[in-house]
Amino acid sequence: MPTRDYYEVLGVPRGASESEIKRAYRQLARKYHPDVAEDKARAGEHFKEINEAYEVLSDAQKREQYDRFGTVGNGAGPGFGSAGDFGPFAGEGFGEIFDMFFGGGRAQGRSRGGPQRGSDLRYDLEITLEEAYTGVEREISYSHLGQCVSCEGSGCAPGTKPQACVQCGGSGQLRQVRSTPLGQFVTTAPCSRCGGEGRIILSPCVTCHGRGRMETERKIAVRIPAGVDDGSRIRIAGSGEAGAHGGQPGDLYVYLSVAEHELFKREGLDLALFAPITFPQAALGGDVAIPTLAGESTTLHVPPGTQTATIFRVRGKGMPSVRGGGFGDMLVHVNVVVPRKLTKHQREILEEFARAGGDQVEEEKGFFERVKDAFGVD
Ligand SMILES: [Zn+2]
Ligand SMILES: [Zn+2]
Repeated sequence: MPTRDYYEVLGVPRGASESEIKRAYRQLARKYHPDVAEDKARAGEHFKEINEAYEVLSDAQKREQYDRFGTVGNGAGPGFGSAGDFGPFAGEGFGEIFDMFFGGGRAQGRSRGGPQRGSDLRYDLEITLEEAYTGVEREISYSHLGQCVSCEGSGCAPGTKPQACVQCGGSGQLRQVRSTPLGQFVTTAPCSRCGGEGRIILSPCVTCHGRGRMETERKIAVRIPAGVDDGSRIRIAGSGEAGAHGGQPGDLYVYLSVAEHELFKREGLDLALFAPITFPQAALGGDVAIPTLAGESTTLHVPPGTQTATIFRVRGKGMPSVRGGGFGDMLVHVNVVVPRKLTKHQREILEEFARAGGDQVEEEKGFFERVKDAFGVD
C-alpha cells in the first residue's frame, strides 16, 4: 500500500513544531476515532494512517530519516500491520477504549523475532538534459545501514550462534489473559527477556555489537536510461538497508531531476527551441543551422516571408521515449531580430529598401494605415 505524505495526513506544514504536530494529531484522532466515527471501517483505516504519521513525525530521529529519505521503512514502529496497534494512543488516555474495541494488545500477531525486510532509501540525483537524452551511467555513494561484514548479519561472534529464548520458547511473544468489564481478552505482548526477538545472542559480534547491521558507505553505478524526465524514479532492488534476522534488504529509489537547459525546454517528448533569425533570412528565406541535443546541428529551412513567432516542427529531433517508442520533435520558435545598431551603409540600404516599398522613411502614415499595410489589407 503506498503511504501518503505524513505531513499531508496530519495537515501540518513540513516545518511544523512538535506541539503543532501533537495538536493536529489529537484533533484528527478524536475525529476519526473508530468509537465515534460514523463509518467505522473507513475511520479505522484512516485512524491507522494518522497514527502512523504521528509515530514518525513525533520522533525526532524518525522524522529526520523520513525528511531525508521519504520513508522510515520497517523501523516506523511496532506492528503497524495489525488492527490492534494504536501505539501512540497508549499514553493519551484512550488505551482502555481501544483494548475493548480491538481486543487489546499492541503488536498483536506479529513476531518481532522473524526476518524483517530492510528499509527503502531515497537518493536525489540531478542530471543534465543531455544526459537525459543519451542516457548515462552515474556512480553514486551513500551511507546506509548495511550488513555487518564481520558476522555477515548474524550479530554473533565468530563460531557462535544465537540461543532460543527460554522464557518465550523462541516465539518472542508472551500470551496474557486479561479481565475487563466486557469480559476476558487474550493478549500477546513482546517477551521481556528477549525483547520480542525470540532469541538471545550470548556472545555478540564486536564489530556491530550484536546488531548484525552497521552504518556503511556504499558506492554503486546507476544506469539511467535515455528519455528519463524530471521526477522519474529508478528502483534498484536490494540496494536499500540490510534486513534484520535474515530478512531481505530494502530497495534504493533514485529520484531524478533534470537541470534546466539554457537552450531547450522539454515539452513531453518534444523540445522547444527559441531561434533568432535575421530580417533578411525571414524575408528572403534561407537555411538556418539549428543546434540539437545529440550534438551535431541540423538545418532548418526558413521559407521566404516567415513571420516572427512562427513555429517549425523538426521531426525526430526531440527527446527519445524512455519506453523505446522513437523520438519526439523539435519545435523551433523563430524570432526575427531587429538590429540594434546599423552601419552607415546598412542604414542607406535600408532606407532605399523602405522607399522602394513606398514607405515614407519619416513618420507620416497613420497607425491604422501601417497596420493595414502590414496585414496586406486594402
Ligand atoms: Zn557483526
Ligand atoms: Zn523471549
